[in-house]
Amino acid sequence: MFLSDTIAAIATAPGEAGIGIVRISGNKAIDIANKIFKSKKGKNLVDFDERRVNYGYILNPDTNEKVDEVLAVYMRSPFTYTTEDIVEIHCHGGFIPVKKILELVLRMGARSAEPGEFTKRSFLNGRIDLAQAEAVMDLISAKTDKGFDVALDQLEGSLSKKVKEIIKNLMDILAHIEVSIDFADEEDVDEVTLDILIKRSNEVKDEIKLLLETADTGKIIREGLNTVIIGKPNVGKSSLLNALLGESRAIVTEVPGTTRDIIEEQLSIKGIPIKIIDTAGIRETEDIVEKIGVERSKQFFNKAELIIFMLDISSELTKEDFEILELIKVRKALVIINKTDLPSKLDESAISQYIENKKIIKLSIAEEKGIDELENAIVDMVYSGDVRTKDRLLVTNVRHKNALERALDSIVEGLEAMNKKLPMDFIEVDVKNCWEALGEITGETVAEDLIDHIFQNFCIGK
Ligand code: GDP
Ligand code: ZN
Repeated sequence: MFLSDTIAAIATAPGEAGIGIVRISGNKAIDIANKIFKSKKGKNLVDFDERRVNYGYILNPDTNEKVDEVLAVYMRSPFTYTTEDIVEIHCHGGFIPVKKILELVLRMGARSAEPGEFTKRSFLNGRIDLAQAEAVMDLISAKTDKGFDVALDQLEGSLSKKVKEIIKNLMDILAHIEVSIDFADEEDVDEVTLDILIKRSNEVKDEIKLLLETADTGKIIREGLNTVIIGKPNVGKSSLLNALLGESRAIVTEVPGTTRDIIEEQLSIKGIPIKIIDTAGIRETEDIVEKIGVERSKQFFNKAELIIFMLDISSELTKEDFEILELIKVRKALVIINKTDLPSKLDESAISQYIENKKIIKLSIAEEKGIDELENAIVDMVYSGDVRTKDRLLVTNVRHKNALERALDSIVEGLEAMNKKLPMDFIEVDVKNCWEALGEITGETVAEDLIDHIFQNFCIGK
């Protein structure tokens, strides 16, 4: 499919910068650029080879006035980002030069590109699939190294490759089903065929399950791990947050909309984005459990994916501490004993007896001891139960997760139908549904309005 009109947009971020780039894609792109570009010696753009960066000027062809001094490059279809002819004009950064050049390009016959339209064309023209297109956006918006790595792998097709493998297996299953429908005689279902179908469908089911198991980790890599630090006043919660922030050299942002007495920080621990709430802001004179009773902090506590419960080794366990231990029993939580530089008054065995399956980490923030161990423990928890992280293939996108869940439901239903020896037509419907759900990930079977919706979230010029 080739899209007929030529699109243009400013590809660089708005604001003042060293350079700005106007990008043009479509069959008129080179023609348009040729009309407005002149080299220092008066040559046109196409007088030079393609994929060569050429120094010159953008001139208004009506008045011959110079608009800006630029570097321009043209690239012919099909080996380009969109697979169409593409021109990039590198001009001076800042609002005015890019705007002026874009206006000129539009006047010469290009249309203003919609958000993500370059990438959308790359998808519609078949160069990348939908999961890869989505990875482009994830790459741009990645906040940590790990998020970037996973997106880069997805862009290179790691997820698509796996999904296509599963789809291929489904195709084989469908072929078997069709043959047996065509050759069905009076005897209901051919046992040999059925055995093969069940075996292959189980393999498909397992593959989908494995992918789904990575989704929790994937979500964290993409969106961050929601973490709260709780504990009595003065145990060192704020000190810990500061220590973690210092270590991670994070982008420290205060999230707009949060009230002043709850501090949310975003940081990166070994490449994993973490959103930490320091409950410190909630008036610390109040009884901690009562505080958790406060509606707002309760919300944070409830939605937290990881709870860091902090104790001070130099003071004895109190009733409040046991009440918190009770609350975190069923949650993903780490217990931290701080201030190990001070003499101990804390009965550690009482803690491990009370909650058996929680990791207890001792540290001294004052002496900068144990923080690395804490960071490792957090990373381990993010990856816990995840066998696939080694090959970095992670399902990070909620859309993909939903599609995988529907695919799993369908193949499970198909397997039930097979085990019940239902007619092949029934079985075929389930297997086809599974294939359709998986096809949504790569874009093979996805509806047009969903495609539009996905690309609307992209930035302009990408
Ligand atoms: P929060 O109320 O739980 O947020 O506790 P803070 O972080 O405000 O710390 C309370 C006090 O404990 C401060 O004076 C800190 O300097 C001190 N503190 C924090 N960590 C340590 C530690 O590891 N050892 C010692 N001796 N003092 C610490
Ligand atoms: Zn504090």
